[in-house]
Amino acid sequence: MNTVKRLVFTLCQPVTLALIVLFWATVPPALLDKAWVITAISIGTLAMVQALEFVNERHAGWRQQLREFRTDLFYVILYFAVISKLETKFAEDPLASAKHALGISTDWAMHLPFVGQAFLALFVMEFGQYWLHRLMHNSFLWWTHAPHHHITQLNAAKGLVGNPLELFLVSLSVIALFDLPLNAVFCAYNLTGAIAAFAHANVRFYTPRWYAYIFTTVEPHSLHHTVGFAETRCNYANALILIDRMFGTFRPGEAEIVGQDERKRLLIVEQFMYPLRPLMAMLKRGRDTSASV
Ligand SMILES: [Zn+2]
Ligand SMILES: [Zn+2]
Repeated sequence: MNTVKRLVFTLCQPVTLALIVLFWATVPPALLDKAWVITAISIGTLAMVQALEFVNERHAGWRQQLREFRTDLFYVILYFAVISKLETKFAEDPLASAKHALGISTDWAMHLPFVGQAFLALFVMEFGQYWLHRLMHNSFLWWTHAPHHHITQLNAAKGLVGNPLELFLVSLSVIALFDLPLNAVFCAYNLTGAIAAFAHANVRFYTPRWYAYIFTTVEPHSLHHTVGFAETRCNYANALILIDRMFGTFRPGEAEIVGQDERKRLLIVEQFMYPLRPLMAMLKRGRDTSASV
């Protein structure tokens, strides 16, 4: 192994996160006002991680063919053009109004250093996402989350592939209840996206141990995607695997063979319709019963 390549794939994840923090800490106010900037930076980060798949591949079986690329691209567009907009309109804006009306204040957060603000935002988002994700694996909400587990290979953008209802639900957070500068919140969004891209990427990283202790990496997340429903009930954290360690759901290891239902790959239309399956099964049972009477 070339020493330079090894160094690049050792430092890539922590250096990317540091650059993201540096960018948002020093972003000019004129850029912060432009809605397209956070979208452009997020998509740029995702594209960078995707490009790494061509440099140091993890598994040949996860190599991205055109069909996978088209699906991933569809979901990237869906997420940034629709889901994130709905999130702002129907979740974050109403929550910010409620905060204002109820006089909720977390003024102390405005006095933290920037890195503290960004990590507070990241932790608040991740904490909610961890519990919702865990609930999805242990309740009827599985019907919304299952399409994400039907993916049969991992790639950088696969974190955005799933049923739209699930994508909306897992993006919910109470971050709007906190007084935090906009650049710290954007920084946390950008960090979550970058870490999720790394954790789904078909890339062989030589991750530093301290990084893998705190942040989610492809090893524990691929184990979360393993075949067999019961085996998926671990490593729920999207970005901060530390939360799994805190609540006893961390499991070490990794998986190469991923998927559910004998690794049946779902089409986009099947991913969209999946939560209706219990209802359709009930209607079918009703029809079959009345036909046999
Ligand atoms: Zn899951
Ligand atoms: Zn995943």
